[in-house]
Amino acid sequence: MNKKLETVIGLEVHLQFNTKTKIFCGCENVFGREPNTCTCPVCLGLPGSLPVLNQTALKYAIKVALALSAEVNSYIKFDRKNYYYPDLPKGYQISQFDFPIGHDGFVMIPVSDGQKKIRIHRAHLEEDAGKLIHDSSIKGTLADYNRTGTPLMEIVTEPDLRSPQEAYDYLTTLKLILQYLGVSDCDMEKGSLRCDANISVREKGDPKLGTKAELKNMNSFKAVKAGLEFEENRHSKLFLAGEEIIQETRLWDENKGVTVLMRTKEDAHDYRYFPEPDLVPFTVDASTIEEIRKSLPELPAERFENLIKNYTLSEYDARILIQDPNLADFFEQCTKSFDQVKKICNWINGPLLKELNDRKATIQDIQLPAEELASLIQKVEDGTVSNLAGKDILRMMIDENKAAETIIQEKGLAQVSDDSALEKIINDILAENQNVVDQIKDGKQSAMGFLIGQAMRKSQGKANPKKVGEMIKRRIHNA
Ligand code: ADP
Ligand code: MG
Ligand code: ZN
Repeated sequence: MNKKLETVIGLEVHLQFNTKTKIFCGCENVFGREPNTCTCPVCLGLPGSLPVLNQTALKYAIKVALALSAEVNSYIKFDRKNYYYPDLPKGYQISQFDFPIGHDGFVMIPVSDGQKKIRIHRAHLEEDAGKLIHDSSIKGTLADYNRTGTPLMEIVTEPDLRSPQEAYDYLTTLKLILQYLGVSDCDMEKGSLRCDANISVREKGDPKLGTKAELKNMNSFKAVKAGLEFEENRHSKLFLAGEEIIQETRLWDENKGVTVLMRTKEDAHDYRYFPEPDLVPFTVDASTIEEIRKSLPELPAERFENLIKNYTLSEYDARILIQDPNLADFFEQCTKSFDQVKKICNWINGPLLKELNDRKATIQDIQLPAEELASLIQKVEDGTVSNLAGKDILRMMIDENKAAETIIQEKGLAQVSDDSALEKIINDILAENQNVVDQIKDGKQSAMGFLIGQAMRKSQGKANPKKVGEMIKRRIHNA
């Protein structure tokens, strides 16, 4: 980025709720069914059908608003957003215009020198549209209305983000909050979380916003970042060349790594919003909102602070653990049976996460009792098994669903620390390597490693290397 310029970004996130049924009818709210098997007159918009608001969807929306520290409108009102598109059989989308469920909230994102507040302009409830399938094997396009009427929350930031990286960090932070709330699976590949990005550039210090471009069609956070980087570049070039920037909507082309023009402002819709006559506005009691507030789980930021405070973890370690609340729980359980907190953290964030990644699994997908991991770590710490063997044992514990102790017994992996057994091995090694012993006596300490290595080999890796080192040293220097 040119030093004189500043990038301005605002994001609009669409979040599908994982309620059992759709927002205004009793149809199942599921992904991946045969096309058009989860529809009814209401979500198909047939004449005479009437919408009824899903109370769980409303509760989820209030939860999200509260978790984003937003003001909650207790006055619940829906509006019609009118436009025609083949994925919208009613010809309008039920949304919220002047009374969004939440407004004026914020999210704190991590930045290099601490945290930055990203303001949330509004968060409103609406229904999703259907899905058009462009199938090259037939002439034309197919419409699947299973998605029609899926509860959707749109979360809109103020233009507070200043780089594609900040946009990426905002999305990761927001996603984690939403996952903690359990209101959505937040899977961008399935479309349950979608993001449109707005970007402009201006001269640094200019209070006025530049003309923006709206970016669509990104299906991962990485794609959002890449699309924004492309646009940042395009805008600054135009700006520095003194060329006019036109307000437009552009599509990200993942394969080519470029954005392409979709439409300009002139083609923008006038949605002719008006109050939805089939849903009578009503007010949610302050006590109900309070109850929902009290039912909120511990959120990622709180969990992060508490892990650091209660276990004196580093920010780095705490940040890894909070990525999965179940993993953070698992960590806390481990500390109940073994008190070396830092060691436990290193085992979880190192070898355990590696095993999970290899299996594309989460801690919930495997059968590993916290006490068992704690017991394994303890055995490594007290020298019963070597660090290296410990990692193998962990893998076997997960694969074979067995206790650490059982695997150590079965595979004979216990280190030999028993003095008499080690004594015999060391006697042999010293006798076989008299020349090396002489070198050490002459002061060549580095030769120690060779002797320890020989002893380890003779014991088939079962000797405790620390103990071997000590014993050899004692023998040579006391000889
Ligand atoms: P629209 O009416 O085109 O949907 P909005 O005013 O509703 O635009 O804003 C949509 C999103 O775009 C918000 O996240 C907002 O912060 C962001 N935004 C608005 N103007 C700009 C701008 N000039 N540059 C970057 N982002 C912007
Ligand atoms: Mg908008
Ligand atoms: Zn339906």
